Amino acid sequence: MSSAPPSATAADAATAQPLIALTDVSKDYESGAGVVRALRDVSLDIAKGELIAVVGTSGSGKSTLMNILGCLDRPTRGSYVLSGLDVGERSGDGRAIVRNRLIGFVFQGFNLLPRTTALENVELPLVYRGVPARQRRKQALAALDAVGLAERVHHTPNQLSGGQQQRVAIARALVTDPPLLLADEPTGNLDTRTSLEVLALLQRLNRDRGITVLLVTHEHDIAACASRVITFRDGRIVSDERVAEPVDAAAELERLPPPEQTDARALERELDPAERRRRELGGPVPGTVYVAMAVAGIVGVLAGIGYNNFVIHHATPWIPLAFGLALESWVAASIAKRRLGRPMTSDQRVRVSLFYTLGVACALAPLVALGVSDRARALLDRLGALGPAGIAGAIGLALLVVAAVSLARYLLLSLVSPLVGGKRA
Ligand code: ADP
Ligand code: MG
Repeated sequence: MSSAPPSATAADAATAQPLIALTDVSKDYESGAGVVRALRDVSLDIAKGELIAVVGTSGSGKSTLMNILGCLDRPTRGSYVLSGLDVGERSGDGRAIVRNRLIGFVFQGFNLLPRTTALENVELPLVYRGVPARQRRKQALAALDAVGLAERVHHTPNQLSGGQQQRVAIARALVTDPPLLLADEPTGNLDTRTSLEVLALLQRLNRDRGITVLLVTHEHDIAACASRVITFRDGRIVSDERVAEPVDAAAELERLPPPEQTDARALERELDPAERRRRELGGPVPGTVYVAMAVAGIVGVLAGIGYNNFVIHHATPWIPLAFGLALESWVAASIAKRRLGRPMTSDQRVRVSLFYTLGVACALAPLVALGVSDRARALLDRLGALGPAGIAGAIGLALLVVAAVSLARYLLLSLVSPLVGGKRA
C-alpha cells in the first residue's frame, strides 16, 4: 500500500499540528419536539498515532462526534481542522475528497455489500479513487492479508462469521491507507473473543503503521485497550484520561480459554457458515458409489431372473426389478459410508437417486430406440402411431416414471442407510 497522502504529511510536517483539532464544536438537530443539542462546545485535540476509546451512555453524542470527525456531517457551530485542512469550510464535494483521502470507517453493522466477495468489497474505495483494476486487486489483496483473511478473499459476507466480516470492513477502511481510522462500536455485534481479536488487529495497525484510531465502545474491557479514554455525557466531554498501560488485546486473547473448551453450541455458532452449509449438504458423492450401484443393479436383476426361473418357476417381472433396487441401495449406502466416513446426508441421497436414475434412463433409451427386444419394438410401434399430443403425453409419462423411480430409490436409500451406517460418525 502507498504511504499517507502527501497533502497530509506535508501539512503536518510544516506545522506540527495535531491530526485533529476540534474547537467549540456544537451540533444541533432539529426535531419535531424541538432542538436536540447532540454536541455542546466540544474542544478536542488528537495527536497522530493515538488509539482513543470514546465511551458514554447511549445518546451522549458519540456517533454524532464520529460523523463530524468522519466528514459525514458538519458541525452547527465551531471549527474542525483535520491534518491542517479546515474541514468545516469545505463544500460537500470538498469534504467527500477529504473523507476519501484521509479517513477509513468501520461500523457496528459492518456495512458490506451482500452477494459481493470480500475482495470486491475491499476494492470499492479504490474504484471511487479511479485506481486501475490491476493495482486495485493488488492493494485489496494486501489489505485482506493484513487482516488475516488471505484465505477468504472470494467469500461473500454471508459465508463469513461476524468477526471475519468486521475484518473485511477493516481491510476496506485501510485499503486507501488513511492516517485516521474511525470505528463506531466495531465490536458491538461480536462476542468477547472476537471483539478482542478485532481489538488486537486495531492495536497492531496503530502500533505498526502509526494509524490513528478512534473507536466508540460500550465495553470496559475494550476501552481498557486504548491509550486514551474520552467519556461523553449529554453532548459534553466529562473526562479525558490517558491510560498508562493499555491492555494488550493479543495477550488478553492468549489468556482466554481456547475455543475448544468453550461449550459446543458456541463453537457451532463460531463455525464458518460456509463450512456448516457444506457439512449439511455433504459434498460430492464419490463416483465409485455410482459404479457399485450399476454393478449391484445388474447382479440384482440377474438374481431376480434366476429366482423367477429356478425357485418360483414363473416369470414375475417386478421381482428382478425389486431385487435390483434392493441390492443397489444396500451397496450404495455401504460404499458411501465407507468412502465418506459417515452415512450419506439426505441431500446426497437425493442427488444419488436422481442422477443415477437419469443415468439409467439415458443408458436404456438408445436400447429401446434400437429395438433390441420384442418389448422395445412393441413400444416403438406404439410411439410411432401417436400424434403430437400423444408424444407429449408419452414424454410426460416418461418424466413421471423417472421421478417415481428416483423417489423409490431415495426412500430405499433412506431405509437402508441406518442399517449399514450404524451410528452417525
Ligand atoms: P450515541 O452515539 O452516543 O448513542 P448519538 O450521537 O447517536 O448518541 O445521539 C446524540 C443525541 O442526538 C441523541 O439524543 C439522539 O437522539 C440525537 N440525534 C442523533 N442523530 C439525530 C438526528 N439525525 N436527528 C435528530 N436527533 C438526532
Ligand atoms: Mg451511537
